Amino acid sequence: MSFEKLSLIAPILRALETQGYTTPTPIQSQAIPVVLAQKDLLACAQTGTGKTAAFAIPILQLLYQEKQAAATPDRHIKTLILTPTRELAIQIAENIRDYGAHTGIKHLVIFGGVSAHTQIQTLKQGTDILIATPGRLLDLWQQGHINLRYIRQFVLDEADRMLDMGFIHDVKRVITKLPEKRQTLFFSATTPNEIAGLANSILTNPEKVAVTPVSSTAEKIEQQMYYVDKSSKRSLLIHVLKDASIASALVFTRTKHGADRVAKELSKAGIQANAIHGDKSQNSRQRALTDFKAGRIRVLVATDIAARGIDVDNLSHVINYEIPNVPETYVHRIGRTGRGGASGIALSFCEAEERPYVKDITKLIGQSIPVVSNHPFPAGESAERPAPAVQMRQSSSQQINGRKNGNGGNGNGGNKRKWHGGGGQGRPQQRQQN
Ligand code: AMP
Repeated sequence: MSFEKLSLIAPILRALETQGYTTPTPIQSQAIPVVLAQKDLLACAQTGTGKTAAFAIPILQLLYQEKQAAATPDRHIKTLILTPTRELAIQIAENIRDYGAHTGIKHLVIFGGVSAHTQIQTLKQGTDILIATPGRLLDLWQQGHINLRYIRQFVLDEADRMLDMGFIHDVKRVITKLPEKRQTLFFSATTPNEIAGLANSILTNPEKVAVTPVSSTAEKIEQQMYYVDKSSKRSLLIHVLKDASIASALVFTRTKHGADRVAKELSKAGIQANAIHGDKSQNSRQRALTDFKAGRIRVLVATDIAARGIDVDNLSHVINYEIPNVPETYVHRIGRTGRGGASGIALSFCEAEERPYVKDITKLIGQSIPVVSNHPFPAGESAERPAPAVQMRQSSSQQINGRKNGNGGNGNGGNKRKWHGGGGQGRPQQRQQN
């Protein structure tokens, strides 16, 4: 299957070529024809599956064709994309900018946590597509800066996460402001009852598409477990990051305070690192993210919430400095690497108290995680008490004894990126931890 076969127009095909996309992902090949046929869509897909392009590409095409046919262009908002976080909103806007580079379709992104002034000024100039988080959208709508009466396509992105984050009432309020006659595209990684109910109430004869079940870990991600005492985690992290083959690493901590501390300790050890979490201003988070994406900073330390929506092409390593107590979070974290068909490596540092979490994780992913036993800071050798001998069941072939973190080697250094399909990343519900 190629993008040409999906009947995409030349300006979009050209942009996809620039992006280096050669093959549609499963969600794209299923969803694009449905959206182009102007039908409603219920899509079960998590981030990392290429879902953004699955809705963005056909929407750009529909808008482009409409614009070509229109006698005079109008400035009304025609497409609304609602997404739960600022990071996701920015990510979607960047994708739309890239895929729509040759279409002349205008887009605008609004989100909370920053001054509304510039957003209001830009809204006055009109836009075809509005990407928004629910709270800021309602604020600006209430103030009369946004007219939703001309919406023809409505995308609800990450509906389950909207529910998790307590935004579902705002979402329902936004929906009441939209015209009844419209096309609705509903995306959710999981479908708890409330989400299924919402989908039923707002979709008309939807086509249903689903890719990869929630619990499946991307097969192309190499996972490694380091058992280590709590007091040695910092030294282990520094040791691991001294390996120059780690091109970029996203390090996860459970708390904001932990993220700051780890970033500071790394910097002290001469490893350039930045932290992002909810307490930092939107500007400083964005700056840290841009620096990381551009390769100016090699290590980014983040909490789960701050890391939502972080989409870094070719992120080589994810490091779980602390093991999440919600197993789905592990799947979600490691899914940050190995995206867009690339391979990746996920390292986890487990102290004695975290061993039960590892048990939950291995149960969820249905496999044990290979243990790196030959490292300088093995558990039980610090001045503290020895760790309880909870052995993970594993075959000796799963032991990685001091093996270098060689990149799984998919030869992905080139520009062309091919979607390998297969295992997707879990994006299930997550209890908030910070
Ligand atoms: P998403 O699920 O929308 O967050 O997308 C995950 C990643 O896959 C992003 O980095 C996209 O740039 C990338 N991507 C999306 N579609 C394709 C494709 N057809 N081929 C290669 N990479 C893609």
